[in-house]
Amino acid sequence: MTQQMLAGKRGVVLGVANNRSIAWACAKELAAQGAELAFNYLGAAQEKRLKELLTGIPNSLAFPCDVARDEEIQSFFAEVSKKFDSIDFVIHSIGYADKEDLKGKFLNTSRANFALALDISAYSLVAVAKAAEPLMRQGGSIVAMSYYGAEKVVPHYNVMGVAKAALEMSSKYLAEDLGAKGIRVNCISAGPVRTLASSAIPGFKSMLETAQKFAPLRRNMTAEEVGKSALYLISDLSSAVTGEVLHVDCGYNILGMFMSDQESEG
Ligand code: NAD
Repeated sequence: MTQQMLAGKRGVVLGVANNRSIAWACAKELAAQGAELAFNYLGAAQEKRLKELLTGIPNSLAFPCDVARDEEIQSFFAEVSKKFDSIDFVIHSIGYADKEDLKGKFLNTSRANFALALDISAYSLVAVAKAAEPLMRQGGSIVAMSYYGAEKVVPHYNVMGVAKAALEMSSKYLAEDLGAKGIRVNCISAGPVRTLASSAIPGFKSMLETAQKFAPLRRNMTAEEVGKSALYLISDLSSAVTGEVLHVDCGYNILGMFMSDQESEG
């Protein structure tokens, strides 16, 4: 039998809402490679759904954690530390913006909703990294989920794009701050995939259709493919990679102009 890549490793996965969540796809890849995992949940309904899913993952832990609340982040990692004397990785797969801000113009974003989106979608990575650091005794790897709307204007993505830009840059500053301790911090910039969070974006169907039509690989990526890339970033295969944004989007981000197959041939 081949050696499991993450045998003896332990870590935290934040952001499993249901079986379509990108965090869940990551968890399945990491668990299949022998990692022991601690998950968070937000509210009773999510706790129930998560605990049903976790029957398939041996030795997994689950504790509440609303990343908007410092005391919940503290108590989450305190609970984790009672079971795991050290951790090797954290997956941060969390984002939130008021639905109203994903309609119409970015121009109309209120001060309060701007702060809310940036707090939950970007600042939480900083707070989580700070709480995880003391437990990452042998170094480790932190991976956060971003999207192309951090780099380019994508219709309807609005304040989430600004939050993802802050997330990506936060991961680079964290990579510098934590690098001397052997802790790596990277982002995955995933292409569109149907989940609870993405269903809040109007026109999401056309995001999928555009990516499928024009991405160099002429298809959409899957959550499982994000999971495999997370495994790479968590494992020793990426031991010299930090502060990086890895695009897992079938190549969509390299395009400077969209051309149909007919146009590019002619
Ligand atoms: P999802 O709805 O399955 O996951 C989002 C998670 O964020 C949920 O588990 C939700 O409970 C959690 N969350 C929101 N506010 C929270 C809070 N205050 N405290 C704790 N948890 C909170 O959707 P997803 O698409 O799997 O999203 C995961 C990540 O991937 C997000 O950062 C999202 O922006 C990013 N992403 C998604 C896509 C896509 O097309 N689905 C593409 C690129 C990046």
